[in-house]
Amino acid sequence: MSGYTNTLSVMVLTEDSGAGAYDTVRALVKEMFKLLVPAVWTHRIDFKPLEDESARRAMHANLWKSNNPLDERNRRLLIRSIITELLKPHGFVLYHIDGDKPWSRHESSENVREFLTRMRSPIEAGVRSQLPAEVETRMKRLRLLVPFYSIEAWLYQHTREAWQLCAEEGCGRCHTQLGDWEKNRASLDEVTQPKETTLCLKDKHNARLASSGFPARQVYEAEASFTGAVDGLLECDELTAALERTCATSFTPSP
Ligand SMILES: [Zn+2]
Repeated sequence: MSGYTNTLSVMVLTEDSGAGAYDTVRALVKEMFKLLVPAVWTHRIDFKPLEDESARRAMHANLWKSNNPLDERNRRLLIRSIITELLKPHGFVLYHIDGDKPWSRHESSENVREFLTRMRSPIEAGVRSQLPAEVETRMKRLRLLVPFYSIEAWLYQHTREAWQLCAEEGCGRCHTQLGDWEKNRASLDEVTQPKETTLCLKDKHNARLASSGFPARQVYEAEASFTGAVDGLLECDELTAALERTCATSFTPSP
């Protein structure tokens, strides 16, 4: 990694607290970056999780929404961690929260609305206090990744791998459902609580679904929440430029 750390650093945050949650979202982010800049060298990107344990507590299960005064300290630590990243010369923050609604009702997502008021606003104030002239561009480096209904709406799009995993589980009953989704990918974004109500896999294989040939192009072409997230990344010109820099130095002679 050293030698390329000036390219970009991406802190990947997720509301999910499971053991593979960070790896899952990081793998999806890599797929998104490849859609933005097909030649990107993702191994030159300094991906990192949120280190601060107290801040992580506010992130998990969106506890930053809590009105309990005992949770307030952790929410402030989470906000502080994000501000610190955005103030770095090459720092970006990609933050996954679930929409908790079907995609057709995405504009009524309470999670998104609450994030804008309870997280984004204080983050913006913190960035403004340090870099008033750059607040607009720096805030664009904070991108929300919002799957509708939840992250499984994206992961189950890897229908071939899910088909295989269902077979390995000795189930086989999910194959018809997977075939239907493959024919109409946007329909998966309309399922309420896909993890709880559809496949036998639940969230047991999420990291594998995200990192074993995820069909990002087809999912993007479904024009649902994954498309919305990728298009959201495009709003940050600095991100695209930084991703392009990862391959611009690809002709460095080998030692
Ligand atoms: Zn199954």
